[in-house]
Amino acid sequence: MTVRELQSMFLGYLPLLYQYAEKIGIELTLGDAYADPTINHKHRKGSYHEKRLAQDLNAFLKSTGKYLNKTSDHEQLGIFWESLHPLCVWGGRFKRIKDGNHYSFGEGLIRIRGHNVIIPRTARTEQLFKLAA
Ligand SMILES: [Zn+2]
Repeated sequence: MTVRELQSMFLGYLPLLYQYAEKIGIELTLGDAYADPTINHKHRKGSYHEKRLAQDLNAFLKSTGKYLNKTSDHEQLGIFWESLHPLCVWGGRFKRIKDGNHYSFGEGLIRIRGHNVIIPRTARTEQLFKLAA
């Protein structure tokens, strides 16, 4: 799988997240997407934003317009995102700094002897990572 193929798959899943958000009464707007690695940006070095494989989304409660800025506010969306594909990663799972409005794709994909192997970082496998740490 090339990076370009991953980018295309990532874009294909984002509308499903948008539609799900609408269904549960949440409006989404776009936050940061691409971060140019040659300039000083606010994302961590090596971030999936640099690979065009991450999208930050701003969430608002449709009924009141309230800005949902806590990681926990994004949990339902994050769980849905992770259900779409093993490579869908929700930033609310990050260990060091929880990043609830961060949705990315491709983390966990590694190459072993020329084959793509997926080690998804979802709620289920997070327990395994904890046990292995
Ligand atoms: Zn992000």
